[in-house]
Amino acid sequence: MAEFIFIIAALLVLLALAMNRASLRLWALGIVLLTLSAQMGLVHGHLHRPVFTLWALAGWLLAAGLFALSFNELRKKYIVLPAYRALKGSMPAISQTEREALQAGTVGWDAELFGGKPNWSKLRRVAPITLTAEERAFLDGPTAELCKRLNDWRIRHELHDISEDIWRFVCDNGFLGMLISKEHGGLGFSAQAQSLILGKISSRSPDGVTIVMVPNSLGPGELIEKYGTDAQKEHFLPRLARGEEIPCFALTGPFSGSDAASMRDIGVVAHGIHNGKDTLGVKLTWDKRYITLAPNATLLGLAFRLFDPEKHLGRGEDLGITLALVPTDHPGVEIGRRHLPAGAAFPNGPTRGRDVFIPIDWIIGGAERAGQGWTMLMNCLAAGRSISLPATSAAGAKSMLRTSTAYARIRKQFNLPIGFMEGIEEPLARLVEAAYELEAARAVTASMVSAGEKPAVISALLKYVSTERMRACVNDALDIHGGRGICDGPSNYIQGAYQMVPVGITVEGANILTRTLITFAQGALRSHPYLFTEIEALQNPDRERGFEIFAETFDNHVAFTVSNVAGALFHNLTFGLLASAPPHAGATAYWWRQLARASRSFALVADITVVLLGGGLKTKQKITGRMADALTELYLLSAVLKRYVDDGGPKPDLKLVDYCAQNCLYRFDQGLLGTLRNFPVRWAAWLMRPLVFPFGARRPASDYAGKEIVRAALQPGEFRDRLTRDIFITNDPSDRMGLLEYTLLRTVACEEADKKLERAIRKGEVQRFHNNDWIAEAEVKGVLTSDEAADLAQLRDLMARVVAVDEFDAVALARRVPGAATGPKVADAVGARPDRPEHIAAE
Ligand SMILES: Cc1cc2nc3c(=O)[nH]c(=O)nc-3n(C[C@H](O)[C@H](O)[C@H](O)COP(=O)(O)OP(=O)(O)OC[C@H]3O[C@@H](n4cnc5c(N)ncnc54)[C@H](O)[C@@H]3O)c2cc1C
Repeated sequence: MAEFIFIIAALLVLLALAMNRASLRLWALGIVLLTLSAQMGLVHGHLHRPVFTLWALAGWLLAAGLFALSFNELRKKYIVLPAYRALKGSMPAISQTEREALQAGTVGWDAELFGGKPNWSKLRRVAPITLTAEERAFLDGPTAELCKRLNDWRIRHELHDISEDIWRFVCDNGFLGMLISKEHGGLGFSAQAQSLILGKISSRSPDGVTIVMVPNSLGPGELIEKYGTDAQKEHFLPRLARGEEIPCFALTGPFSGSDAASMRDIGVVAHGIHNGKDTLGVKLTWDKRYITLAPNATLLGLAFRLFDPEKHLGRGEDLGITLALVPTDHPGVEIGRRHLPAGAAFPNGPTRGRDVFIPIDWIIGGAERAGQGWTMLMNCLAAGRSISLPATSAAGAKSMLRTSTAYARIRKQFNLPIGFMEGIEEPLARLVEAAYELEAARAVTASMVSAGEKPAVISALLKYVSTERMRACVNDALDIHGGRGICDGPSNYIQGAYQMVPVGITVEGANILTRTLITFAQGALRSHPYLFTEIEALQNPDRERGFEIFAETFDNHVAFTVSNVAGALFHNLTFGLLASAPPHAGATAYWWRQLARASRSFALVADITVVLLGGGLKTKQKITGRMADALTELYLLSAVLKRYVDDGGPKPDLKLVDYCAQNCLYRFDQGLLGTLRNFPVRWAAWLMRPLVFPFGARRPASDYAGKEIVRAALQPGEFRDRLTRDIFITNDPSDRMGLLEYTLLRTVACEEADKKLERAIRKGEVQRFHNNDWIAEAEVKGVLTSDEAADLAQLRDLMARVVAVDEFDAVALARRVPGAATGPKVADAVGARPDRPEHIAAE
């Protein structure tokens, strides 16, 4: 018994020292006390085993060693210097463009998750969704009006373009200048407002939203607002805000996609003739592709590498990546041809130019910003990536949920609404979860940006997870709708999103790269408390100074690692029950504790991974990808818990929060498990595994929990409305989405009467065939009252319209012959008879 008590006491002392990052002298003192206790125990005969005798001897040596190492000079000589030498060759080298990318943006909540001891007040300080009265009015007014005017089918299929009236409406109402400050004629809306507005529009037309999204994301508007000269601001910003200039931004080329910094587009500083005068300028040659809005653009933002062989600017020959503004009607600019991205209709195309001369003051920010293009881009991207794609993806998830729950409740097979079948419950549960989590993460991230943060790592993880989940949501919605979702036409509300999914996956950093390289490999460098400083110190050409910085950081890093080892073990052994939770946690305190526990485990594995993989971090992408997934789940869980608090803790949402939290932690564990199973340094994996998973990994949420949230979402009401907030919703049965909503309400209202009718049909009292009015028959036979019969007849017709798919004349559908002079043929859309949705065809 005494032996057991001694072991527990010793363990607690060591854990306390480690978790509190005790100084070496405190460690030495702790070990001395333990050693003295062991000796006394041996003398008094309470401790017997040889291990205690060994401890009594080794403890003194260990304490003496630690005490000696507490002296700076000794520690530096015998510990830090060998580590410095060993790490110098193994840590990843950082190129100039990488450094610029790493220094762009800000670090915030991600650093708390990387640090293993999240400071809850930092998350608490992020504002809940807040809009000014003007922003709210814009969302409910012009945005809702734009949504009503957007006809997705007309855009996607008939015109294969955005119609003139939509362009006009968007320009006249200032949509193109949401991020341009009021001072320069824009709306000056917050990131949160922009995100909600973009989300709402995309829920109506994923294609149509691009014409608003692109001018309000990385491009001329944002670059001029942040970096432009006064003259550029005064000239361009009001014009951009009013839609008198249509911008596009060209970075990507045929040979520089993900590796955009390797671009071959060049500019050479030289004298040339501009407006008849000899002018200092840049001779530009470029070949860019995939450029959104390029076919319609009047103002081309261009990225190129700038050289100054004659040193006109006096800053060397290779000035680096530079950004310029080129009017598209400038002589030599080739623009206007179109790509067909995934068959979508938004304008996208290439642009080229050879030896095009532009004056030097067309460089964004003027000559003094020559060569700063990459930093400017990375800074904008760090914030911008948090807005557009997370907004449209969250809106996509909410839309897919809204339509799929309605359809699944309306559509019956085997005499049962398909939503009540367990097989359909599974994809519906995924949709419910994704809609809640993506909206939570969208909102909290947009609030961070509204508050001035540029969350580089969070924006990367959110970009890839939101677009990936959106892809899964669209696929689930298609499966739930069966053929109704597959057959395209004016009444189809899924195909537009389906076509746009690959675009979101690929732009603003293709997902595979963003997951495997940017989120964790670069994220660790940004968000780890010590790593970047250590690497900078190792690469410092002033070796002495570098070593000094390294030594200081190294001490902290070792204490950090030791504390994570102890913290992970302690919290995993105690199931996180003693981890911290914020005071406002309330009913979700358990999950906050689990988040703290998981963050400790993550900090441990992340730390060991970056230290042991070092330079291999960029190539071990299956490891970094899984670590990115684990970090992402921590972020989603943080967002879910915050959303619940921000929403005022609605009771009906608690089950959903439990469901999301359980699944986030399950996927988090899978990420870490996969990392450890495949960790290239096997001994480290063996050591980490019992610390992180002493009792194994967590399970996903149960089938029963899934059923509960799906049943709640199939019911029209507050829960479903909260889940799908801020997307375009109408109950107008003459609209394809409104028809669903209206029919859902009628379906629920007629449920009792419908049951009576079904019973009568099953018993054979009433025949349900095309040539028979079975509802009238049921009324005649007294199965239904006349009111019930009227309601069911209306519902039957509504249902027929809901399940109807469009039909086309075969000739009208024939493809245009390549090279034919006119635009794509307009197909006549005809709704399925007898329930032809004329309202839609007529739109
Ligand atoms: C519809 C559309 C609109 C666009 N709009 C614009 C625009 O307005 N302006 C603009 O400048 N660009 C635009 N782009 C370009 C877009 O940003 C690029 O397509 C994107 O950067 C990827 O480049 P890529 O297509 O050449 O793919 P590649 O770079 O060839 O990548 C192919 C695959 O390899 C992966 N990969 C590449 N490098 C790595 C790595 N180191 N580690 C792991 N995986 C890696 C990628 O993730 C991807 O899956 C647009 C593209 C599309 C399709």
